[in-house]
Amino acid sequence: MTIAKTLLALQDMDQALALRRGDYRKVEEELKSEGGLPKLRDNCEKIRVKELEAKVESARLESDLATLKSQVGELETRLYGGAITNVRELTAIETEHSAARRNLAQIEESIAPAEVAAEHARQRLEELTEELTSKGKIWETRKIELGQEKTKVGTEFNEMLEVRNAEVSQIPEADLARYTRLFRSNRGIAIVRVDRGVCQGCAVRLPIGELTRLRSADGPIPCSCGRALLTEQ
Ligand SMILES: [Zn+2]
Repeated sequence: MTIAKTLLALQDMDQALALRRGDYRKVEEELKSEGGLPKLRDNCEKIRVKELEAKVESARLESDLATLKSQVGELETRLYGGAITNVRELTAIETEHSAARRNLAQIEESIAPAEVAAEHARQRLEELTEELTSKGKIWETRKIELGQEKTKVGTEFNEMLEVRNAEVSQIPEADLARYTRLFRSNRGIAIVRVDRGVCQGCAVRLPIGELTRLRSADGPIPCSCGRALLTEQ
């Protein structure tokens, strides 16, 4: 095999390896994302706290309501029971009664919205919990698939890499160094073919002198585009 053909075969392998490496990373990223479950769990936790707070608020209002109702009841008994005849004392009770009635009205107005908020939070929590359960099941399956995929791609990659490294040991050091430099700087293209005198990398027609030089060289020569060249073979 000529050095040009060897390098071309090496490039094919390196490109295939790069694709496998990309696939492997994608699998790793998806595994890391856990199917979006951490964010969903977070949201679930937030709404759970919200629901609890709404329940506590509702209960507080109900308790205040009961207290105020009995307070108003007691004041009314004293006010209309006939036991108190002192005008000043009656006026004081009347003032207290009005204030308690106002507070009672306020509490009564707050109860319905608080219950709506609690119910809304409860429903949202139920929805999120269902979503979490179904997505969790889907993820369990996907996780297994991804694990198998990761092993498969990783094994393929390592096998290819072994073949590649065996091939590389046959290539003269200077050629390999030039190839490696070009492969890295040129996004995975170090060697391009010359077809009917035209560089297939940059589409430039080679001057006759260059073509002659290429044909008489025992390896690839650099093109003005910065890539290495091959003969038409
Ligand atoms: Zn070129």
